[in-house]
Order: sequence, then structure tokens, then C-alpha cells
Amino acid sequence: MKLFKRAGDLSAYLVKQEKNNTSIGFVPTMGALHSGHLSLIASAKSCNGITVCSIFINPTQFNVTSDFEKYPVTLEKDIELLITAGCDVVFIPSVAEIYPQGLQARRLYNLGYLETILEGKYRPGHFQGVCQVVHRLLEIVRPRNMYLGQKDYQQCMVLKTLVNLLAMDTSIIVCPTLREKDGLAMSSRNMRLDEQERQLAVIISQTLLQIKNEIATRDLRIIKAKATDKLVKHGYTVDYVEIAAAETLIMQNSWDGEAKLIALVAAFLNEVRLIDNMILN
Ligand code: AMP
Repeated sequence: MKLFKRAGDLSAYLVKQEKNNTSIGFVPTMGALHSGHLSLIASAKSCNGITVCSIFINPTQFNVTSDFEKYPVTLEKDIELLITAGCDVVFIPSVAEIYPQGLQARRLYNLGYLETILEGKYRPGHFQGVCQVVHRLLEIVRPRNMYLGQKDYQQCMVLKTLVNLLAMDTSIIVCPTLREKDGLAMSSRNMRLDEQERQLAVIISQTLLQIKNEIATRDLRIIKAKATDKLVKHGYTVDYVEIAAAETLIMQNSWDGEAKLIALVAAFLNEVRLIDNMILN
């Protein structure tokens, strides 16, 4: 596996690879890698000649400084995992390499409705930061395919919007959420949970399953309220429990029995904010 720290070096290397008509599959990450990330690498490897993974904890997408400062860093282990997974290239840039004009000189992206709801509402500025870093990474890597996890469902929609806004020739492939045996969605932030919090963390996926089992039986507002209660009773501070149309993320209070729905949850267990979602039908 080749390791690059400089954007210019990586771009030059990839341009040479592309001359052999090799397609590039790209997996952007913030490191602290787990099997969920590695499943994206496996998907990229299965369909592309060269797989590039980036590891960069992007300061502009954190709206709470302590969350940025406490984000787990396991770089040596990450590199070992990527070698074992057969990743071809890892890109580990500095902040200056990603933001050569400085952190203040930022472009604004018109994300419309998507930025006003759910993560956009509860983490103001978050998706602008995500777009800033991914725009820069896409310019450096110029992948044919970019692999993202359904775990960050709204982010997948935002990045599809970004690729359209930029009229870039990159396809986005959304990969299923990998879960621990008890159902907890794998996440780098899970490393920050203590033993008791880790046991409680499973309640989120159980709540999503409960919603899934109930959608046909009653008003969605009652289902959402019941789900929120369940989380609160287990000590969570809930940002949102929502049911939305899966294609548009427009919130739904009733169901016609046909439209494709998704349930989405964001809630804190003490300091740690967890998100998860589940397609309901
Ligand atoms: P992150 O390092 O958290 O920014 O995540 C990098 C990529 O991995 C994103 O596209 C995430 O959606 C994806 N990802 C994170 N957790 C999982 C998971 N449990 N299963 C599949 N993909 C995931």
C-alpha cells in the first residue's frame, strides 16, 4: 500500500494510473477504522482497479470543539487494517494540505432543504464542512466511484447533491450499515463509550426495529413519541426520532402503506452523540 501526505503527489500518481484506464474507487474516512469502513474498502476493491482511502479528521465539519478534540485517533492500527484489507493507496493529509487558503476562506454550497433538517438542523454548518472537505478530496483523487455508508444516510444525500452541483463525473455507491452482534451500528465514536454506555447503546437499534415493526399498525406520530420515550427512559438525550420518505427525507406523520420510509435517530448517551437509521419497508 502506498501512503501519500501531499495532495500534489497523490494526484500525480493517480493520473499515471488512470492512463492505464484503471478506475479509481475512493473511500473518504476520518480514521479510527472499524469493519464498517473496511466493508467500503472491500466494495471499492471489487469494482475498481485501484482503491484509495483518505484519513482526515476534518475540523470544519465539527460544530462542537470538544467533539473534534476527542475524536479517536488510531493511525498505526488504521494503516495495518488497510494493508490487510488490500487497500492500494492511503492519503493522510495535513489541515494545510486540504485547506491551503486557510480555514476561513470557505465556499458555500447550496444544499437547500437537506441542510435545514435532522443533522443539518442539530449540527449547524456540519454539512458545509463535509462538502468543503469532500469537494477538495474529489478534486485531488478524481474517482470514478465514491463509497459511502448508509449509516450516514443524510450525508449520502448531501454528497449526491454536491456531486451534481459540481457536475462531477463520480458515481456514489451507498453501502449497508455494518453492525455489532447486538445490533449497534459500528462507529468510531463507539470507542468513547464506557462499559455501561456501551450496553445502553444497543437501545438505538432496538428502537429502530420497534418502529419498523409498528409502522403498519398506528399513526407515525404516536410511534415516534413512543420511540423517543423509550430512549429518554434509558437515559438518552434525544436530538430527534423521525420517520421520513426515504427518497427525499421529507418528514411523514402518516403512511399510505406503499411509500418507502426511513426512520432516523440521533441521541446523546452522556457526552457521546450516536446516530443510526433503518429503512422501514
Ligand atoms: P467516518 O470515518 O465516520 O467519517 O466514516 C467514513 C465512511 O464510513 C462514511 O461513508 C460512513 O458512512 C461509513 N461508515 C461509518 N460507519 C459505518 C458502518 N457501521 N457501516 C458502513 N459504513 C460505515
